Amino acid sequence: MNFRHLVLGTDTYIPLKNRKWTKYINFDNAATTPPFKSVMEAINYFAPWYSSIHRGTGYKSIVSTELYENSRNKILRFVGADIENYTAIYVKNTTEAINKLSNRLCKDDKCVVLSTSMEHHSNDLPWRNKFIVDYIETDECGRFSLDDLEKKLIKYNRKVKLVTVTGASNVTGYINPIHQIAKLAHKNGAMILVDGAQLVPHKKINMDGYSSYDQIDFLAFSGHKMYAPFGVGALIGPKRFFERGEPDYKGGGTVKLVSRDFVIWDDPPSKDEAGTPNLMGVLALTAAIDTLEKIGMDRIEEYEYSLLEYANERLSHIDGIELYCNDTSNKVAIIPFNVRGIYHEKVAQTLAEEAGIGVRSGCFCAQPYVQRLLKINKDDIEKFRKNPDLKRPGMIRLSFGLYNTFEEIDCLIWALRKIKNR
Ligand code: PMP
Repeated sequence: MNFRHLVLGTDTYIPLKNRKWTKYINFDNAATTPPFKSVMEAINYFAPWYSSIHRGTGYKSIVSTELYENSRNKILRFVGADIENYTAIYVKNTTEAINKLSNRLCKDDKCVVLSTSMEHHSNDLPWRNKFIVDYIETDECGRFSLDDLEKKLIKYNRKVKLVTVTGASNVTGYINPIHQIAKLAHKNGAMILVDGAQLVPHKKINMDGYSSYDQIDFLAFSGHKMYAPFGVGALIGPKRFFERGEPDYKGGGTVKLVSRDFVIWDDPPSKDEAGTPNLMGVLALTAAIDTLEKIGMDRIEEYEYSLLEYANERLSHIDGIELYCNDTSNKVAIIPFNVRGIYHEKVAQTLAEEAGIGVRSGCFCAQPYVQRLLKINKDDIEKFRKNPDLKRPGMIRLSFGLYNTFEEIDCLIWALRKIKNR
């Protein structure tokens, strides 16, 4: 299986430190994926039709509006949402989607939001200081605890408004049991938001669920992690929810009627899309979804999982490579590790300069989670608080995309052996 030909820039040569040129290997897909060729073709194809949507009566404006509006159902279908009752609000990325929901969730500061100890900052910080926030614990390996969720739901006695959880961790790759979480949340009167940034590109999602109570209420994701460009993402949720209250951003496109004395807000999703929308971003996102569907999400999941298992197996045979809980079950293709005795940043830099391999190092915008996985104690955290610029412990992260190959993993293993034996 090889999907390489579908992706732009997979044959890019780059200069190394020794001035030799090599083919670039990108193992940083959890940060951003390169675009599909079909996405770039769609952008070129539609560019002549580029026109402001919703406002104009000109032909191009009508075509642009139609394309933009029709894309919503494609996106809803892609994530298995109920088209009649759900809506897709376009945003610039996952972070904006989550902030939007946090601004729209409830006006009562006694609302309780349950987040988890494994979240990206984008699904942690937007809830803080607005609501009562508590964190569901993970086990030593960083896996979600359903037991702790149950305990916390009982503790807050139906006061939890939302359980917000990542679909898959951007640090360890662990996939959360989102439908089981949804069921528990719903039975306790709460809704669920899934941060789908790391799940949507890698695994089929069915927001509608499989049995009663287990549907997903809200889903957030970013185009740039699923082979579309930067600047587009979606927040999906029930129309009924977004009909209520005022939008967080107000302005052009959000209203039905305005006088000096009153405002009648438009229906969702327009109400929550203030200003001129990102038409080309949305068209690019739908082109990416077309290609993902053509390949088939099940095939993508299966192929990426085989990359994960292969890389994990090979890494586990290198003395000095520290893997964090060597358990590859229920994971998207992400592997965090360290090389004993070498600072994570140095390893990442050497891989880039000497082997042309791009990875990420640090805490991946999930500092509390990484602190827990690395067993950093409170005193050390205090030390860093006094001096936030001190070099901090972290990890190196490999994250695979559907176009990566086993040969590329072999190159990585060769490069890591060289670094380690120095
Ligand atoms: N959540 C998770 C799990 C992520 O991995 C990321 C991106 N690293 C985000 C949220 C934020 O995504 P964006 O930067 O596209 O808003």
